Amino acid sequence: MTTQRWQSQRETITDVCRSLVRTGLVSGSSGNVSLRLRNHPHDLVLITARGADLDDLGPHGLSIIDMVGEPVEEELPPSSESALHLRIYRGRPDVGCVIHSHPIYATVAAVAGREIPPLIDEVVIKIGGPVPVAEYGFPGSEELAQKSLASLGDGMAVLLRNHGLITVGRTPREALENSLLVERLARIFLYTTLLGAAHPLPEETVELEKELYRMKRAAESMDK
Ligand SMILES: [Zn+2]
Repeated sequence: MTTQRWQSQRETITDVCRSLVRTGLVSGSSGNVSLRLRNHPHDLVLITARGADLDDLGPHGLSIIDMVGEPVEEELPPSSESALHLRIYRGRPDVGCVIHSHPIYATVAAVAGREIPPLIDEVVIKIGGPVPVAEYGFPGSEELAQKSLASLGDGMAVLLRNHGLITVGRTPREALENSLLVERLARIFLYTTLLGAAHPLPEETVELEKELYRMKRAAESMDK
């Protein structure tokens, strides 16, 4: 039966969604989360259903789709942002979880069209560098998906212009921690900019941390 397949992944995504609501990164059905299901011969994607209440997904709050968005089991229709999630999984084989949210401070930067500089040390090591802003694309469109992946590059977070935030991770915990980190960074960026004192990290520190990020990713791709 469908409810018995991928049970632990269903529980994981349910926990991530609750954490997003509890930490204020999303409210109600605003936002969507997916996990890559490593499967033979092709990976599948477990994703929140269209309009699902993220605080209470229940047994029918999730869909399973293939890499082109076709439902593979009788489930509810997938999130309206499925194209965005699928484009990232196809372009980034290292990504195991994608979180799309609308947190206030990250969205302030997204509306202002301001890339968020890595003002604190852990950002470069975890996200790979500044958090870029993808050019505007209509919600749910292939255009938004394509622009988001292009700006994400090999990083772990991207702002969607006039819309919100995407973070990714090898694991759900990493994707969630990245969302929380970007929102915290966006808040620090806003307030330090208002004070006229958003001092950047020293350039050599950023370079060293970028190297640590690349080494960490290379080591992870070897353990796959
Ligand atoms: Zn959205």
